[in-house]
Amino acid sequence: MTRSVRIALARPIRRLFDYHAPDQQNVVAGQRVRIPFGQQSAIGLVVDANAEAPEGITLKPILSVCENWPALPDETRALLSWASNYYQHPLGECLFTALPPALRKGRAAERPSHTQWQIVVEAPATLPANAVRQQALLEWLAEQSCARETSAITKAGFTRAQLNALAAKGLVTGTETTRQEPPAGDIATPPVLSQAQRSACEQLPAPESGFTASLLYGITGSGKTEVYLHYLRQHLAEDRQALVLVPEINLTPQTVKRFRHYFGGRIAVWHSALNDGERLDTWLRIREGHPVIVIGTRSAVLLPFTGLRTIVVDEEHDSSYKQGEGFRYSGRDLAVYRAHLNQCPIILGSATPSLESLHNATSGKYRLIRLEERAGNAVPPTIKLLDIRSRPLEGGMAAPTLQAIRDCLGNGQQALVFVNRRGFAPVMMCFDCGHMVECPRCDTRLTYHRKDRAMRCHHCDYQTAASDHCPACKSEAFKPVGQGTERTEEVLMQQFPDTPVIRVDRDSTQRKGSIQSILAAVNTGRPCILVGTQMLAKGHDFPKVTLVVAINADGGLFSVDFRAPEQLVQTLLQVSGRAGRGEVPGQVIIQTCHSDHPMLQQLASGHYLPLAEDLLAERSSGGFPPFRSMAILRAESATMEDSIGFLDQARQQINANQIDLWGPLPAIIARRADRYRAQLVLLCDSRARLNLALKTLCQQLDQQKRKGPLRWQIDVDPLETG
Ligand code: ADP
Ligand code: ZN
Ligand code: ZN
Repeated sequence: MTRSVRIALARPIRRLFDYHAPDQQNVVAGQRVRIPFGQQSAIGLVVDANAEAPEGITLKPILSVCENWPALPDETRALLSWASNYYQHPLGECLFTALPPALRKGRAAERPSHTQWQIVVEAPATLPANAVRQQALLEWLAEQSCARETSAITKAGFTRAQLNALAAKGLVTGTETTRQEPPAGDIATPPVLSQAQRSACEQLPAPESGFTASLLYGITGSGKTEVYLHYLRQHLAEDRQALVLVPEINLTPQTVKRFRHYFGGRIAVWHSALNDGERLDTWLRIREGHPVIVIGTRSAVLLPFTGLRTIVVDEEHDSSYKQGEGFRYSGRDLAVYRAHLNQCPIILGSATPSLESLHNATSGKYRLIRLEERAGNAVPPTIKLLDIRSRPLEGGMAAPTLQAIRDCLGNGQQALVFVNRRGFAPVMMCFDCGHMVECPRCDTRLTYHRKDRAMRCHHCDYQTAASDHCPACKSEAFKPVGQGTERTEEVLMQQFPDTPVIRVDRDSTQRKGSIQSILAAVNTGRPCILVGTQMLAKGHDFPKVTLVVAINADGGLFSVDFRAPEQLVQTLLQVSGRAGRGEVPGQVIIQTCHSDHPMLQQLASGHYLPLAEDLLAERSSGGFPPFRSMAILRAESATMEDSIGFLDQARQQINANQIDLWGPLPAIIARRADRYRAQLVLLCDSRARLNLALKTLCQQLDQQKRKGPLRWQIDVDPLETG
């Protein structure tokens, strides 16, 4: 029987390709190879080096191996095969996602070398008079205290050509080195752990216990970072690796700084702003087994660790851990599986744990560790609900809110104004009586569609024209709920002309270095007002912020998305948690038209766990995750008819044995970029049965011929269900 080498390609196809290896080539699984593919060649990854060759086909030979070791070690491949099956995403794309761009493109797996330039002779007189820039470069190099990298030289305004010209004349010399790890710097003495922190740390099982998952429920400002650090210092062997996942690195540079202080050059960072060279360098350091501690965002969970001994997932509830397109994995969930593969501990930390993780803690799968005191001298903030019905608003803010900001600034403190945008389904609401229009056939609110001024139900086909006055009290203050940051910023600047108003949102933080300048302004400690969206709710530690205002809490209260209440509660508590982290106690004002809403009332107590229990009870009675497994089949095409038709047919094909099917329904945003989007929701008691049904469905859908360009995709454990 002939043997073949089975290879995966970086293509969205659910199949592998068979080749044969020339005898002298020793090919192993995980290795990168170059193969002939169509008219060209392609980089492939060996999935099975010794597979059974399909019959009756002459196999083409592999052209070459890229290196004589497997780029992806066994454990990383096991993780990705599992993920490919779990998320129904083609194996090839999963495997290639775990390679740095340089290796995907077929470049050599070598740590990029850097040339360090220095001057040979001081003040040479041999340069022609017109070589002004070369002369300037020589002078610049002479001023440097050490040899400088090419990149530093070009950054200083010189060119490679000038450098080469000087080298050719023998005036400067370059030495090749590989990139140095950042110097260890001073190892700062860690603060003495509080009693509560020490107790939390002691409850975390050591790596010797094998696989354990701990949910560290630590309120905002309780000093979770210090607990992670202490745990790693105490338990991570010098020759082992660790992974610390964080939602977004550039928002909280102080976290990396604190880790660097303790672990110096052992710290490697991994995030989307690295360039190809930096990625390759870090990736290879990890692959070579250096004892690094990686602090990284979502995709760091796919790095080729070979000695992983501890995993930490900070802010484990954060939605950025779920990839929103293509290979839709959850970084947090893969981290748990990876800890299991490595038989090592994982610590999931949050002040507002996801209902999934809490459920795992209650059911005994995870252990729950509580840290319910703030670190240092800080105390939890007081939360006040401010009912804004019948109150005039300016930029979304009521008079008592503006007064509170004025008082806060007057006391020399800083204020933070949070504009809630997520989970924002535009609903028409009466600002006098709080009335919202419900669907006569379902237990949901109608959503407002600005374009045709209609109100629609997303659970049935009911629709009605939007009126311009409240159907209940006839008031004309009947408007879509929602408030932009720009308008709020404008009003704040008018009201407080002498105070810097700093806007923090997607747009204002995208530019390189902008978050640094924002943080620098806040860290001066001088009075200022921060205004922004969701980004302000993430992990920041601003000791001088003593007032937090949430100007429109209601956006997510009545959303059709089953996750909206959880996300609203998490966001409000997280943003509240920015108040009073220093010496002065904090105060939070939540503006709402529903101050009597039980969920908000409970939230004002500041205690998350009882709230989460209620939300879990609702999930349970509704049959939602985590009590049932969920997946969504999404389709988009040129017409809604085609999208719905495709999903209708898929619905027929699904073996509906104990699988609940909802839809097909148009998506909440039914048309995007001229494509019509629809979805079919699958819910099942058994994860295994759902997985099998999805797998069969994928195979069938792959084989079907369809007219017109229709795209479909499966989202397992979806975060967004609209
Ligand atoms: P969390 O992530 O739990 O919200 P952080 O880790 O950001 O909290 O810590 C909050 C603040 O408390 C930080 O400024 C940190 O330096 C400080 N801190 C943490 N532990 C201690 C301690 N044991 N003593 C004094 N200050 C501490
Ligand atoms: Zn309805
Ligand atoms: Zn009304």
